[in-house]
Amino acid sequence: KNPYAHEYQLLIKNILNAPIYFDPNQEIVYRTEKRFTYATFKKRVHKLAHMLSALGVKKGDTVAVMDYDSHRYLECYFAIPMLGAILHTINIRLSPEQILYTIDHAEDDVILAHTDFLPVLEQIKGRLDVEHFIVLCDDEKMPPTSLHVKGEYEALLDKEADFFDFPDFDENTRATTFYTTGTTGFPKGVYFTHRQLVLHTLGALSTLGSAPHQGNFRQGDVYMPITPMFHVHAWGLPYVATMLGVKQVYPGRYIPDLLLELIDTEKVTFSHCVPTIMHMLFNSPKIHEVDLRGWKVMIGGAALPKAMCQEALKRGIDMFTGYGMSETCPILSIAQLTPEMLERDDDAQSDIRIKTGRSMALVEIHVVDETMQSLPQDGAHSGEIVVRSPWLTQGYFKDQKNSELLWHGGYLHTGDIATMDEKGYIKITDRMKDIIKVGGEWVSSLELEDIINQHPQVKEVAVIGVEDERWGERPLALVVVDPQKTVTDKELLLHAKEFIKKGIMAREGMLLKIKFVENIDKTSVGKVNKKELRQKYAL
Ligand code: ADP
Repeated sequence: KNPYAHEYQLLIKNILNAPIYFDPNQEIVYRTEKRFTYATFKKRVHKLAHMLSALGVKKGDTVAVMDYDSHRYLECYFAIPMLGAILHTINIRLSPEQILYTIDHAEDDVILAHTDFLPVLEQIKGRLDVEHFIVLCDDEKMPPTSLHVKGEYEALLDKEADFFDFPDFDENTRATTFYTTGTTGFPKGVYFTHRQLVLHTLGALSTLGSAPHQGNFRQGDVYMPITPMFHVHAWGLPYVATMLGVKQVYPGRYIPDLLLELIDTEKVTFSHCVPTIMHMLFNSPKIHEVDLRGWKVMIGGAALPKAMCQEALKRGIDMFTGYGMSETCPILSIAQLTPEMLERDDDAQSDIRIKTGRSMALVEIHVVDETMQSLPQDGAHSGEIVVRSPWLTQGYFKDQKNSELLWHGGYLHTGDIATMDEKGYIKITDRMKDIIKVGGEWVSSLELEDIINQHPQVKEVAVIGVEDERWGERPLALVVVDPQKTVTDKELLLHAKEFIKKGIMAREGMLLKIKFVENIDKTSVGKVNKKELRQKYAL
């Protein structure tokens, strides 16, 4: 056995040091304000490592970040784990109490916080057990604060040397941690190792990179995430972009006009976001000024509505689905089309693009019944998605009971209900906890939402189950109508029944009730919060 050959560990530093392509002059852009070359970015990662180790950060410590999507965050994605420390990406949209809970639970030693989040930290500072705070300022001017801060990020970086001798260590060392959004209770901590993140990067690269004509991410692309970097490593794609050596654009806080401006001026070609954000962009008046042809957008975090996909295709956007969850690093599947499928018209293509997709390289997906038996791949039998792959969290941090439930039977349980067709495309019909059972039959809330969404007057819709004496449960659609438009519940029911009659979904869908609402509650990452909606509209 040759020790040198066997010693090569899958470490995050190798994404930076041994990428597919490295052009020292390639750019990393932050909003309209700053741009750096990859050569400078690399030096900044080394400086950050010096700065943190001067503060006493060592292997096994936890360093947390509270920031919008920025070049600084990307630097933290590398420098912190490359030191052997753990990067805790704090969900900046949680309540102060929940933020305090996650900081405590993750045992953070240092926090790097954007000026916007200093008030939150000041509010909970008496109960925080954190050694150092570093402030991230967009204009490099330190605001007054009652926190004992070590200094401002740029000023601190300036003082440091630009070469750090990063150590080798075991690839199974924990690299990142963050907390689920708490839609299903108190936030739960998940964690990922260097090996897992490197393999996720390679899996995503091979799946996205090998797609022949559509849904690909390659050299020559310009990348801009529109999913927060605090949530599941922005779907792991900043690591993929760095491995590819492509230009990267970080938009800071999501402001629709700024996002559209950046897409336009920086010539962004690849992004990813949740449907809510896309909705915001489509509703921004500026959308008419920007040519979006050729923009590739992976939509995930929630089902891609057909109406949204159709609108995107009309604008020349290559929109497709990606699926994953906090527990899975995250990507599990991507809805890419075969060349033959791309020959079909927009309507038929949309039906595939809105599916949950085929498994990414190295992901084993099974749709199973309650006894863990695989169901027929016929696009009709539905059951729970269970998965295995090299990048799934080993469990919830300091939570044995839930970890065992998550991994019950040797597979990670997603809690999502789906069908799988003969080509391996899965389609999520519901989350287990959102299931609506009408007279003993499952009615898919996602399918009903999709149907109602296709009515031209409807701006947004969420379907939940509400108690019903006769049927046990009935589907209730909460509908937001475009302010300039009007529609009656009868018209909407008629529209839905047209689809149901065509046999698109179970006839029990006919028992749909409609309620018009002003807005629909969202979680901290912009997803429809069905738990909240059920509490509000249960009766
Ligand atoms: P939370 O559990 O708080 O919503 P996650 O981001 O971990 O936070 O959510 C993962 C869940 O989001 C999945 O289990 C699934 O129900 C849903 N989801 C993610 N991507 C898709 C998709 N493409 N289609 C349908 N549902 C999706």
